[in-house]
Amino acid sequence: MPIPSIHSQSPLTDANLYGRTVRTVSRPEALVVPPCPVCDATSAHTLFEVEDVPPPVVVCDNCGLGHYHPRPDRETVASFYPDVYYGAPGTKFRPVVERIVRMVGRRHVRFLARDLPPGASILDVGCGRGVLLGPLADMGFSAHGVEASESAIRGAPPSAEIRIAPTLRDAGYAPVSFDEIILWHVLEHLPDPRETLDECFRVMKPHGKIVVALPNFSSFQARWSGEDWFHLDPPRHLFHFPEKALRRLLERTGFKCESVHHFSLRQNPFGWIQSAMNRWSNNRRNALYERMHAGAPLKNSLSSWALLLATALPALALSVVMAVLRSGATVHIVAHRKR
Ligand SMILES: [Zn+2]
Repeated sequence: MPIPSIHSQSPLTDANLYGRTVRTVSRPEALVVPPCPVCDATSAHTLFEVEDVPPPVVVCDNCGLGHYHPRPDRETVASFYPDVYYGAPGTKFRPVVERIVRMVGRRHVRFLARDLPPGASILDVGCGRGVLLGPLADMGFSAHGVEASESAIRGAPPSAEIRIAPTLRDAGYAPVSFDEIILWHVLEHLPDPRETLDECFRVMKPHGKIVVALPNFSSFQARWSGEDWFHLDPPRHLFHFPEKALRRLLERTGFKCESVHHFSLRQNPFGWIQSAMNRWSNNRRNALYERMHAGAPLKNSLSSWALLLATALPALALSVVMAVLRSGATVHIVAHRKR
């Protein structure tokens, strides 16, 4: 059944930022679509409808990549990121969550800095508030970032050199500039993932390292949750990558995949908790996630935190099992420029 308000295009506010409904289409429709950015196939079928986004999410019949068809224009995509999405300057979450986010960020940094020469030049695409760039700069690396909006970088550390540009290409970096490029839960938000990776290849030094993290559309968590999956992040995720499709896109844009990691403490256990709540409770979509944000009302928060604590351990255990089975809800891939 179609969502009644699907064509109303209401703006995102703090009241519906994370609560947009997703519905699985009852009768999937076969479509001819422009060539898939991963595999060039032109046949797809409809899968989801996202509240207030006119085009449906379709899935490539060959590689399983999910995306809107037709693609929303730039203005529509920009409307998915109102100022409220980025929170107050330098803070997106409640203080305690913000501290955890920054602490986990520092753990990531040790992983990202592995095998880099001293003073290496690093580019974080979609760097946000510079959670990764600040600690990287503190370690003596040359830390660069690119972001689409001024609102996103409020509170970023001054040690990070950040350019504001709608796309990586528009940021205008010189060729062969970086030893490492990071796309941490960013590629799925961008209107043209292949152009972005082509540009990463251009601005990267030969044999440089790229690290790409994103939700895994072929994971058990994604398949179990279906339309209720937390990591669909409607309407902002423009693409939904199965792990194999991401590896294929990296290979075709000139990178050699070295390792695929299926565990994320920050993403995967919470994904289980919120997806299960979306599926089983009468609360609106992503209510728990919403209550962790700085601007969210405190009402009913205590019960949410109690629920989070009670379910944390089983969710963690399930995430470990899925990582062992190579079906992590989110994955991060380390690859190198082939030449
Ligand atoms: Zn495809």
